[in-house]
Amino acid sequence: MDKSLHYGKAILRTLKNAGYEAYFVGGYVRDRLLNIPTSDIDITTNAPIEAIKPLFKKVILTGEKYGTVTILYEKHSFEVTTYRKDGHYSNKRHPDHVSFTKTLEDDLSRRDFTINQLVMNEAEEVFDHFNGLDDLKNHRIRTINDPNERFNEDALRLLRAFRFIAKLGFSLEEKTAEAIRTHAAIIREVAIERIQNELDILFQYPYKKNALKAMVTTHFSRQFFNLHDGLNRLSESPIDFEKELAYTVLYLETDDFFERFRLSKKRMRAIEQIARIVYQTETEPYTPEILFHEGVDAALKANLVHQIYHREDRAYTIAKIAEKLPIKDVCELKFKGEDILQHTHLKKRRHIGFIIDQLILDVIHARLPNTYDALKKRTEQLIDTLEKSDIK
Ligand code: ATP
Ligand code: MG
Repeated sequence: MDKSLHYGKAILRTLKNAGYEAYFVGGYVRDRLLNIPTSDIDITTNAPIEAIKPLFKKVILTGEKYGTVTILYEKHSFEVTTYRKDGHYSNKRHPDHVSFTKTLEDDLSRRDFTINQLVMNEAEEVFDHFNGLDDLKNHRIRTINDPNERFNEDALRLLRAFRFIAKLGFSLEEKTAEAIRTHAAIIREVAIERIQNELDILFQYPYKKNALKAMVTTHFSRQFFNLHDGLNRLSESPIDFEKELAYTVLYLETDDFFERFRLSKKRMRAIEQIARIVYQTETEPYTPEILFHEGVDAALKANLVHQIYHREDRAYTIAKIAEKLPIKDVCELKFKGEDILQHTHLKKRRHIGFIIDQLILDVIHARLPNTYDALKKRTEQLIDTLEKSDIK
């Protein structure tokens, strides 16, 4: 038996022996029934936080306001939440207040989808209050109670519906799909960080293309900022793709992508680099210059983007060019910047930069061997050209 299940059961027993109800709930139960390995266990209980604290050695107050604590048990962590009902949602994201409730059913009714409200006790018996087992069997994503109300309460659930398609390969139950179509526009009221977080998760899952197709068919994509073209493109990709490539396609297809999304500088630079290579190689071949300046990794990523656009796979050519590159970095030149400074009268950075660029081109195109003498001689010729030209 896996360790987290073993320790999780010990927590359930401790709570039960203290006179409380306690169950595994949500994703863990769902994934276990689907045979998807998971160790992330959430527990729901009628014990209030004050009663939980003295029962365990390490209890961290991770979400006291929402009735949630994290129990650290033999280095495994468990999120334990007191049965609660969510109050009115006025900002389409968080309930204005939460209130605690005595019944399990009330707690389960605030959850999003029927497949996410299954509970399991320490004897591994499963209890199903809202027909989740049926939906699990039929591979359906259906909200608990009226989908219109449920999406209106919390717009992030729109994206969560697609996340579970991406994870499980399920489809949307008809009324749930209809409600997504009706309420799609409220996604714009959700903070961009939460949206990004959901997309990051979605793009990691195996059935991401099914999720993207569902975004398109429910017209959700049309209301999702200006992302429709990119999402549509990705949904029709003939190959699987990672998060970074997905974001690159969204960037290529969306004018205000970087203004809208809050990506780190590092992520933006990586996306810009792949996009730049895509532009350079859309109708032109990959060249030694591109591989030298951008690196093989980025070139291969751009090649995958081309494939998302149903263009030819040029991985073999890229590998061949890379293999033949005599140098991979400017510091591998046998006659370099410091040699130019020492052996010629050139001082200006601009001039030295010009010479180095030329030497790199000559070497990577195999017009010159990468030897000290050959490059020195070529430098002298270039200085001549420089002096006769108007490069100042
Ligand atoms: P995953 O495997 O992707 O983590 P999960 O079902 O565990 O899926 P979590 O985001 O970890 O999803 O949330 C845990 C549980 O909390 C869900 O199964 C669901 O019952 C409930 N839940 C989470 N977010 C919401 C929400 N926005 N609205 C209603 N219930 C929610
Ligand atoms: Mg979870």
